[in-house]
Amino acid sequence: MEIKESDLKVLFTEEQIQAKIKELAVEMNKFYNGEEVYAICVLKGAVMFAVDLVKHLNMPLKMEFIRLSSYGTGMTTTGKVNAVDISLPDLNGKNVLIIEDIVDTGLTAKFLMDFMHCNFKTKSTKFCSLLDKKITRKVDIEPDYYGFEIDDKFLVGYGLDYEGYYRNLRYIGYVDKN
Ligand code: 5GP
Repeated sequence: MEIKESDLKVLFTEEQIQAKIKELAVEMNKFYNGEEVYAICVLKGAVMFAVDLVKHLNMPLKMEFIRLSSYGTGMTTTGKVNAVDISLPDLNGKNVLIIEDIVDTGLTAKFLMDFMHCNFKTKSTKFCSLLDKKITRKVDIEPDYYGFEIDDKFLVGYGLDYEGYYRNLRYIGYVDKN
């Protein structure tokens, strides 16, 4: 199926996304209380969100980037998380904030939280996702922070792609699966 931008319906506008990011940052600034944070952006989808979010975080912060993939082509997940590049510095004793675009089945979030727990004794590990599709969850995991809860829709824009396209949209849109 081919998707044209004219087929997209806007779910969250640029203004709604940016306002939500500021709200999340207020909570995080309160929690971290000036302590150093390692913000880990999960490429590629979370890139826009991570970049905008960290601009509102006011503690000493380092950014790291890891790359995973679970979606094959099109609109369905492969159900298997693939660590394309997960090289990280020593995070023992650090506050780690994982930044993801969307939690769907939860497999990616679970994989990352397990990876952190197996490899590091962090001071804290928090998982933040802009979007949360709670209804499609397959494993028992909840993000510590999330922006919007959404239904089972295939979303594009603001980092989320369809076959590599539409990451550059400033809004989040959806296409009907039917
Ligand atoms: P999970 O492992 O929770 O099933 O899926 C997480 C990953 O699946 C996300 O990081 C994202 O790359 C992809 N994903 C899940 N839902 C959507 C969606 O609606 N649109 C797009 N473009 N990607 C999605």
